[in-house]
Amino acid sequence: MENQDWKKIGFGYSKTNYNVRCTFKDGKWGELELSDSEYLNLHMAATSLHYGQEAFEGLKAFMGKDGKVRVFRMDENAKRMQSSSDGILMERVPTELFQEAVKLAVQKNIEFVPPYGSGASLYIRPLLIGTGAEIGVKPADEYLFIVFVMPVGPYFPEGFKPTDLVIMRHFDRAAPQGTGKYKVGGNYAASLTAGKKAKAEGYSAVLYLDAREKKYIDECGPANFFGIKDDTYITPESESILPSITNMSLIQIAQDLGLKVERRKVAVEELATFEEVGACGTAAVISPIKRIYDADNEKEYLYGTEPGKWSVKLYDKLRAIQNGDEPDQHGWVEVVD
Ligand SMILES: *Cc1c(COP(=O)(O)O)cnc(C)c1O
Repeated sequence: MENQDWKKIGFGYSKTNYNVRCTFKDGKWGELELSDSEYLNLHMAATSLHYGQEAFEGLKAFMGKDGKVRVFRMDENAKRMQSSSDGILMERVPTELFQEAVKLAVQKNIEFVPPYGSGASLYIRPLLIGTGAEIGVKPADEYLFIVFVMPVGPYFPEGFKPTDLVIMRHFDRAAPQGTGKYKVGGNYAASLTAGKKAKAEGYSAVLYLDAREKKYIDECGPANFFGIKDDTYITPESESILPSITNMSLIQIAQDLGLKVERRKVAVEELATFEEVGACGTAAVISPIKRIYDADNEKEYLYGTEPGKWSVKLYDKLRAIQNGDEPDQHGWVEVVD
């Protein structure tokens, strides 16, 4: 993949050599298997197809200047998939099995890891689905765990550019005591209509409010939200937010850089007081925001058209750790090849 134009590949599916699979059957996980097929042979009554027994993860591998390939915080992705499994009654994938599968998937597709300095990376998608046939509403007794990978381009091919968000109170992504805190496909299905409307109107994502009172910020589509003011990194506390590993890492880096950190309810009106706001997740690390439009009140909150200074510092530091350019003082990266 030497002559790829890495800026052009974007975030989309592409085929690589192998994927890694593991089956849970007769009460136990089997051996990891390599497959070169992109397809599954699935029972039509599988619970994943009917009752949404499906959870996924997303993480990345990066090529360093030293030619080593590093994966970022995969132990946290393993834990989060276990939490998702508990949330929708699927079999847990043990941490060690998860990590072995991720490493094997990267190693067997090593030629697809984009070069250092391209801004591109290898996206890793672990997936867990109920494969057992059930027609009554109950959890399956058989599961399939798959890890596949593909190269993805830099999230900001033209550079780190702020985008716009929209608040629309007639859409919810997750219920207060529902599955918002689990990384399950059902939450994504629930967000497609709102996301499509937001994109059609020129916004990068919907900024969801808490579904109960519509008073507090929840998260931005598939990313967590943060605001910065008075040297403080502030991120919402809510029972329906998916705990972002990027956010968790930015919280630590913010503290390392001397910022105070607050995780608490953030009222919509507080948007007027932030100096910088951003969305964070594996795809972009930080996606700075220049404008949030509250569509129901026809009110707008404006931030700079350029990324704020703390957003740039946080972004640069996290990317440097991922690439192996700066010391990994918290033990977040693992060299896999
Ligand atoms: C995956 C995801 C995120 C981001 O999590 P990271 O671990 O940082 O990639 C945020 N919100 C939702 C709803 C997600 O599914």
